[in-house]
Amino acid sequence: MVATTSEQVGNDHASPVDAATVWRWLDEVKDPEVPVISVVELGIARGVDVDASGLITIDVTPTYSGCPATVIIEELIAAAIDSRGHTVRINRVISPPWTTDWISKDGREKLHAYGIAPPDGEGEGKAALLGIDPKLKCPRCDSSNTERTSEFGSTACKALYRCRDCLEPFEYFKCI
Ligand SMILES: [Zn+2]
Repeated sequence: MVATTSEQVGNDHASPVDAATVWRWLDEVKDPEVPVISVVELGIARGVDVDASGLITIDVTPTYSGCPATVIIEELIAAAIDSRGHTVRINRVISPPWTTDWISKDGREKLHAYGIAPPDGEGEGKAALLGIDPKLKCPRCDSSNTERTSEFGSTACKALYRCRDCLEPFEYFKCI
């Protein structure tokens, strides 16, 4: 049998998709550095537009202009859409700049569970920008008796801290 209408093709390829569905796909795209948190929870994926032709445009704001993960994240997002048979365009939006305030509540809880101190977004984190060590709670034992051991963690976006009580090292997302 030869399919005579597009409905008979039998899969979702080329059928229109709504923005809510695209958001669900994006929520499956995890940050390559912290694989427990999605690009939606991190606040990197900022907008979804589906035009009349079915072209999907994703607004993406890098967490940090020098972050080498940015290009990888954009490729992961594009692949998540492309693999479902849709045409995607990544629109990199650098203004307003990303801030850690954009990390969702769920995202903060997942970072904490993963052992990364979530940024507080309430001033102390931003004090780190000015060279003042923020008082961070250890994500393992909740002690405030912590110290910064390195300006840069596994990536330039994170700093390394150590808990003086349980002696565990942990990473902290620098507020930018
Ligand atoms: Zn501790």
